[in-house]
Amino acid sequence: MAKSAPESVAIAPEVLAKYETVIGLEVHVQLLTNSKIFCACSTHFGDPPNTNVCPVCLGLPGTLPVLNKRAVELGIRASLALNCTVHEHSRFARKNYFYPDLPKGYQISQYELPLATNGWIEIDHDGAKKRIGITRLHLEEDAAKNLHEGFSQSATKAYIDYNRCGTPLSEIVSEPDMRAPEEAYAYLTTLRQIMLYTGVSDCNMEEGSLRCDANVSVRLRGAKEFGTKVEVKNLNSFRYLQKALEYEVERHIGVLESGGRIAQETRLWHQNENCTVSMRSKEKAHDYRYFPEPDLLPVHVSAAWREDVLRTLPELPEAKRARFMITYGITPQDAVLSTSTRARADFFENTIAAKVANPQVAANWIQTELLRRLNESGKEIEASPISPRELAELIDLVESGKITASIGKKVFATMFESGRNANEIVATEGLAQINDASALERAAREVIEKNSDNVAKFKSGNEGVFKFFVGQVMRATRGQANPQVVNDILRKLLS
Ligand code: ADP
Ligand code: ZN
Ligand code: MG
Repeated sequence: MAKSAPESVAIAPEVLAKYETVIGLEVHVQLLTNSKIFCACSTHFGDPPNTNVCPVCLGLPGTLPVLNKRAVELGIRASLALNCTVHEHSRFARKNYFYPDLPKGYQISQYELPLATNGWIEIDHDGAKKRIGITRLHLEEDAAKNLHEGFSQSATKAYIDYNRCGTPLSEIVSEPDMRAPEEAYAYLTTLRQIMLYTGVSDCNMEEGSLRCDANVSVRLRGAKEFGTKVEVKNLNSFRYLQKALEYEVERHIGVLESGGRIAQETRLWHQNENCTVSMRSKEKAHDYRYFPEPDLLPVHVSAAWREDVLRTLPELPEAKRARFMITYGITPQDAVLSTSTRARADFFENTIAAKVANPQVAANWIQTELLRRLNESGKEIEASPISPRELAELIDLVESGKITASIGKKVFATMFESGRNANEIVATEGLAQINDASALERAAREVIEKNSDNVAKFKSGNEGVFKFFVGQVMRATRGQANPQVVNDILRKLLS
């Protein structure tokens, strides 16, 4: 495999600033069905190669496709969540080309009559909101998967796994509305979140259920026409999407600044070399000889069906964020974190419902202690060993002053590890906060007696030593003393 060296060199910021970036994304989302789009074969990921196949998805002559209704329903669901117009009539078309992963010699897709068009989503970039248009959403079947072994020309072997062939996809094409790689990153993140919220896809990038091709061009600021675009493929992570776009923007500007022109082509991102490499020219547009698929009826989505699907849509992330800020008075940042997944949002609301007076306090516990521990143990919030009700109980112990904040954190850790509940841990381990002034005064007097040198320092004006006394009393009470009471007593005894 020939590899050309990276073509871009560092470009001065003032030169970069002369140009505006234009980006549009084409995203393939695998629809979460049990069976394939035109046959009953399983879509289960990771099964032994070529075990989920039948004459239909192997493209054997004489077979006929039968449309999976659930795939259409998920497509409608996605379209509505992306604010698209779902068309009453759409149609499948054959996209003809030859490749070993496409046994029929054509892919069944939608072309001039897609399922839905003309939508938008709102992205958050640098604290500002921006609408990105969605041109279309159409349904299509996936191709098989090619696996290559060996890299020298002579030793290369290619294997084909037809399990993926016929898996339902929706392709979501954006308008060229993004103006920076970070906006593309934000768009894909937002799109993925919506697909997860609506249960349209599991959006697992490693398993290929979310795939993204990026189109990018640059133009002089103020120019009316778009520049020539390049399509970048093989972007199998969010980070690579952003890095590949950053690389392309600089490459385009470098070429234009040196008097060259951008070739319209498809390029591949090479993650190890951190660069894109030309794959094929797009100067001569592919002629796929699209024509209406004669083996399938046109797709009919009645208004009633569309309404039914609309009714089952959950509250979407953007609406949830707004509601959380208004209803619970939490910060915008906490609203973003609390709604990052539906499960997190539910956890937060269930915690509050289990009687937490101050929602911000619940948000803080979840955002810091809970998410940190879940993260460390590689668990999702769905598998949290602490339930919302149990967390609410702990929060109540701390907020009502029955235990101190620092003991609260320790109790939390014990709860997380053992699954025991807060009241029980506090009772059996005797962790209740000590408010009893006479007991605390005794402890304070003991500390003062043992540290006459520090007493002298404090009396000679060294205020910093006060913290030492507080620390010693807290230690003597295993962190259980009410810090305010300890403070008051020490002030009294030392003055
Ligand atoms: P093609 O016919 O090459 O597939 P399309 O017009 O269908 O091109 O657009 C494909 C994608 O490229 C869309 O997401 C669109 O927003 C984006 N796009 C179109 N023109 C440009 C451009 N000049 N720069 C960046 N992206 C573009
Ligand atoms: Zn099949
Ligand atoms: Mg196109």
